[in-house]
Amino acid sequence: MAELPIITFPDDNLRIISKEITVFDSNVKTLINDMLETMYKMNAIGLAAPQVGCNERIIVVDISKEKNKPFYLINPEVIHSSGGIKFPDRCLSLPGIYGDVRRPERLKIKYNDLFGNQLKLEAEEIMASVIHHEIDHLNGVLFIDYLLAG
Ligand SMILES: [Zn+2]
Repeated sequence: MAELPIITFPDDNLRIISKEITVFDSNVKTLINDMLETMYKMNAIGLAAPQVGCNERIIVVDISKEKNKPFYLINPEVIHSSGGIKFPDRCLSLPGIYGDVRRPERLKIKYNDLFGNQLKLEAEEIMASVIHHEIDHLNGVLFIDYLLAG
């Protein structure tokens, strides 16, 4: 595994719509492992591939205190969202910036696993917020966009 350099604002790579993964090979697995290592090294709870300069639809998340519940989502897509809840937000790509962002309280997501199988996941509260933040990265959206929008 290798730690990857984090791309920071205003790098154009953060504003690109990332590409769907269609080939589920060992490159995808390597990227996910490297992203997890990078996330843990940076003491973050989530990371999206564009943040390491790779414009592909992959996110990794671990909100556990012990940092022992990693998971990854390939081609994640929100199929249902409800409610709204504000959490303090921050981002490795926006060092030193903090702000409260309102996001859905509950999310239903479909995604692929490493073998290309399509799975579904339901998340709520902080988990929903983190996943929503990371999926935003795949669409070129940053949390400061919400702050600017009021
Ligand atoms: Zn972020």
